[in-house]
Amino acid sequence: MKLVAVVIALVLATAGCRTAASPSPRPDGSPVPVTPPTVTPAATGTAPTPASSETPSFPIPSSVDRDFADSDEMRGQRDQLVDSYIAPRVTDARVIAAMRAVPRHSFVPTQWLGAAYSDHPLPIGHGQTISQPSLVAMMTEVLRLDEGDRVLEIGTGSGYQAAILGELTPEVYSVEIIPELAGIARVVLDRLGYGDVRIDRRDGYFGWEEHAPYDAIIVTAAPDHLPPPLVAQLDPDGGRMVIPIGPVGDVQVLWLVTRQGDEVAMERVLDVRFVPLTREEG
Ligand code: SAH
Repeated sequence: MKLVAVVIALVLATAGCRTAASPSPRPDGSPVPVTPPTVTPAATGTAPTPASSETPSFPIPSSVDRDFADSDEMRGQRDQLVDSYIAPRVTDARVIAAMRAVPRHSFVPTQWLGAAYSDHPLPIGHGQTISQPSLVAMMTEVLRLDEGDRVLEIGTGSGYQAAILGELTPEVYSVEIIPELAGIARVVLDRLGYGDVRIDRRDGYFGWEEHAPYDAIIVTAAPDHLPPPLVAQLDPDGGRMVIPIGPVGDVQVLWLVTRQGDEVAMERVLDVRFVPLTREEG
């Protein structure tokens, strides 16, 4: 992936300001879900007892509209997605292996099963989407995760990105602002063996301070400026954050933010289109 480097040195004290760079958006953002779903019959998953021991800060549904069965057909579609859309864009073998391993179809409502292995975002309810697989792979690669790194995700959504992270390191923390989505993601992740992924319902603008510092932070909803609390929770010794920043409903720029002490460098990665980072009311 070609990184267009725009390195901006900022001191932490000024990290609350809007990013000084004013990128010119391209009109062609990442594709919106347009593929009509091919609906295939699917069993409705029944929720098991959560594998994680913590008391959740959100309701755990007793059943979820997800299909947990994996099959040769699904694995074949997954491999085809990886071969066609991931492998050409991503070189990190561990990321590619994770994309082959995680059953994306189990993270989407069953009406979208037939489209689960297209390279598109898909609706997951509450006006939110599961991200486009190639973008998930590229954002993950940019973080250069080592096994044992502690990573924070802002915007659990379906839980898919969290599962990909969970394939790479056992220390995954993810926060989601919509309680119902957090609950469904918890059930899905537990059911698929990602019980170690920690989820909390909270406004991710403020990160999850309790477990900071993080070696890496991945933000999957777009704020209009770089949230200072996230910068503060990055490991001062080379912490990396990948974050889309830009106006609501418009093309945003995906930035790689790296921290060395009080210095924050920002590299422009590519233009993207994410749902907005919403804020807690009141
Ligand atoms: N990573 C997700 C993508 C989800 S879309 C996946 O793999 O499916 C972005 C998610 O961010 C949505 O679920 C949305 O509800 C959530 N979100 C938006 N603003 C947030 C905030 N302030 N804090 C935490 N989550 C937020």
